[in-house]
Amino acid sequence: MHTDSPLIDIVVVGIGLAFVFGALANRLKTSLLAGYLVAGVAVGPFTPGFVADPALALQLAEIGVILLMFGVGLHFSVDDLLSVRRVAIPGALGQLAVATLLGIGLARLFGWPMGAGVVFGLCLSVASTVVLLRSLQDRRLMETRRGHIAVGWLVTQDLVTVLALVLLPPLAGLLKGSTALSTEAIGVTLAITLGKVVAFVALMLIVGRRVIPAVLHYVAHTGSRELFRLAVLAVALVVAFVATEVFGVSFALGAFVAGMVLNESQLSQRAAEETLPLRDAFAVLFFVSVGMLFNPAVLVTHPLPLLATMAVIGIGTPLTALLLVRTLGETWSTAALLAVGLAQIGEFSFLLADLGIGLDLLPAMARDLILGASILLILLNPLLFVGLDRLRPWLERLDVHPVPEPAAQVAEPEHEGLPMTHLTDHAVLVGCGRVGSLVAEGLLHAAWPLLVIEAGDDTIERFRGRPVEVISGNAADPAVLQAANLPEARLLLVAIPEAFEAGQIVEQARIANPSLRIIARAHFDEAVEHLDRHGATVVVMGEREIARAMLDHADKPATA
Ligand code: AMP
Repeated sequence: MHTDSPLIDIVVVGIGLAFVFGALANRLKTSLLAGYLVAGVAVGPFTPGFVADPALALQLAEIGVILLMFGVGLHFSVDDLLSVRRVAIPGALGQLAVATLLGIGLARLFGWPMGAGVVFGLCLSVASTVVLLRSLQDRRLMETRRGHIAVGWLVTQDLVTVLALVLLPPLAGLLKGSTALSTEAIGVTLAITLGKVVAFVALMLIVGRRVIPAVLHYVAHTGSRELFRLAVLAVALVVAFVATEVFGVSFALGAFVAGMVLNESQLSQRAAEETLPLRDAFAVLFFVSVGMLFNPAVLVTHPLPLLATMAVIGIGTPLTALLLVRTLGETWSTAALLAVGLAQIGEFSFLLADLGIGLDLLPAMARDLILGASILLILLNPLLFVGLDRLRPWLERLDVHPVPEPAAQVAEPEHEGLPMTHLTDHAVLVGCGRVGSLVAEGLLHAAWPLLVIEAGDDTIERFRGRPVEVISGNAADPAVLQAANLPEARLLLVAIPEAFEAGQIVEQARIANPSLRIIARAHFDEAVEHLDRHGATVVVMGEREIARAMLDHADKPATA
């Protein structure tokens, strides 16, 4: 089936099927990404039925990459980037070198020439930005040092890929075994490429840093939300486009720098929120497009080479990253996170492979191996993260040394097998952000036995040494809530802003303990009703309380 509007086809069918398979994946309790990838395979050219245009899908996916990296940049300052350079740069370069060597070794085993080995090795060494960032965001790790190191690592890999993409064509002759090579020409290309990257970053840091926030401030003051949203989108897309077309920098890196420039402005948070829904929709299309490129026949025609390729990416890279990050002085938890996060490949590998095949350096079979390994490892990646979550208590113990903690502390993180708290007659607080942390202080002051459940990563650190138990995880996860011993608790406070999630938590808690006092937080009338319906004892509506406090102040004398 083909209509004459391929763009509409891919958006509608891609998003529609991603939703259907995503829902199915959710039902089967696997990662949503698996659903999106399978949706891609279904509309891809290698399966019967409707076939979407893969080239178009990849371009749409690129918009997802731009918005994603823009969002990451918004939460990143130049200082953040500089503070991780001692780990991220040597780590990423070392890991790239080892993975490339492994790739070369594998290519030799397949009987490919040396040049093919180099390109193949490079393809196996660069992780997918989208996949790694999604994992970090799902675990709310973007704001932690570990998250910063991972982003620094990705930026370094990105720069190396940019260099590889421009240097491969002039180097192709040498890689094919010809000796006719002008080192001068290579030197000039290298200098021009690096010069352009530096020029772009300098332009952004000197001019962009002033102009972009000024434009957004101006637009924010017009009071038009619509115009503001448009301005944010325009900045992200235009900067990424100019970065690529004029400066030869990748879309992802261009968008990242655009976001970083805005980070110092107070508008950044608002700007980030404006791009969220679009970003998520396009990120879904990214996974659909990866699925589309996958040719399932490779599983039958080349099973062993495929397994060996997967082993380089899924075992070689993680082990190298683990050792390098440890050697560079970071904790086991950080090293393990990077190891697991980097055990996959994606968009950059496809670009490099395409170029290599175009230059006649790489045999076409390499593309099937790379795409096959990519989709299978992206599917496996969430499972690796589940494994990492299981190992986390053990890793944290390795990191902390066996120093006994002064207070009752730290129940273990996420998922089944979580040890049940020994607290009874206690208060359980879900969410420890702006609202929850004030509540926690109040409860501690009143000497409540307290257990906090928080999805963010730094809460355990924050309460270290204080008489609080912390479970780090999503309270909507039944295994997490179960570990809080709700049947014997006296009070549950759900201090998170998201009404749907809060509703789920309240509902489960009410089933676990019909007489529990449950106080929940809401921000609009329907949320109050929703939480009431699910069994909350009291629902506090933030906006009403603010209005009440404002009215209280209204009667006071002018100086108070
Ligand atoms: P705030 O809006 O500043 O009070 O922050 C809300 C806090 O709740 C943040 O720290 C989130 O990490 C946390 N949070 C949101 N949803 C959940 C959840 N389902 N389980 C645990 N913590 C959550």
